[in-house]
Amino acid sequence: MNADELPTLREELEAHGLWANKGLGQHFLLDLNITRRIARAAGDIAGKPVIEVGPGPGGLTRALLEAGADVTAIEKDARFLPLLEPLIEWSEGRLRIIHGDALEADEATLLYGPPAPRRPASAHAGEAPAVHIVSNLPYNVGTPLLVKWLKAGAWRGDMTLMFQKEVAQRIVAKPGSDAYGRLAVLAQARCEARLEFTVPARAFTPPPKIASAIVRLTDRADPYPHLDVLERVTAAAFGQRRKMLRSALRSLTPETEALLRGADLPPTARAEEIDQAGFRRLADAWRARA
Ligand code: SAM
Repeated sequence: MNADELPTLREELEAHGLWANKGLGQHFLLDLNITRRIARAAGDIAGKPVIEVGPGPGGLTRALLEAGADVTAIEKDARFLPLLEPLIEWSEGRLRIIHGDALEADEATLLYGPPAPRRPASAHAGEAPAVHIVSNLPYNVGTPLLVKWLKAGAWRGDMTLMFQKEVAQRIVAKPGSDAYGRLAVLAQARCEARLEFTVPARAFTPPPKIASAIVRLTDRADPYPHLDVLERVTAAAFGQRRKMLRSALRSLTPETEALLRGADLPPTARAEEIDQAGFRRLADAWRARA
């Protein structure tokens, strides 16, 4: 199966009289060399379930189908559905298109159906079926979508995602760097995060103001289970990142020194110096007190 046999994406957009809606973060990749590179960065996806958010005209969708994935694509903009539908037949039924908002989608139910009746939700979560999410994300909702997926309990899986380069750097950042903050701690609590490659602004139609980058997130062997708590403590710690933790954490508790002792962290340390293990201890110490 070769996507080069299809009409070009540019021809398709012109034939349907479509243009980008900036309000929906639409910057299209019309060059199959780039979308194929993203599909390759996702690893071996042949025969595997993949969710793509925002297929738009379908450039990445074509590459994912060409790589043999079973794709469920969620698109908010109904104008693109007629462009995508021919790909269902071309892929011999390996594409399912959902018209909807990815922020509201329930990924596990979408792929594996609702939890069986009288089965507690935790049993559904316990099965944790695997899925791979691959997307050239709409910039305006990229971070909330990532946080939603990091916190998901009902499925597990890898993600290969395009972000603005600056957001990508914040996801993979290590302690001590300017980019290190809440997003790095949350993402790396559940995943190993790696920046795969950058994509220049001119590769998109229309070009955004800044470059983008692909981040690959893979399940880590020891994911931290209490991301809500981690969100809370990182919000306090990085909310005043230049301050020492004994002051910065006052929005959590007046007894910051005791909390920090419980986490085995120096009260004079600053948030940007604390590594993943330190934040896990802090979240555990906060849970033990709450
Ligand atoms: N995948 C296409 C590509 O690479 O050329 C389009 C990527 S474009 C950056 C983002 C896409 O996400 C657009 O098609 C846009 O309509 C869609 N989108 C924006 N917000 C969305 C949401 N909340 N849920 C689902 N799709 C959304």
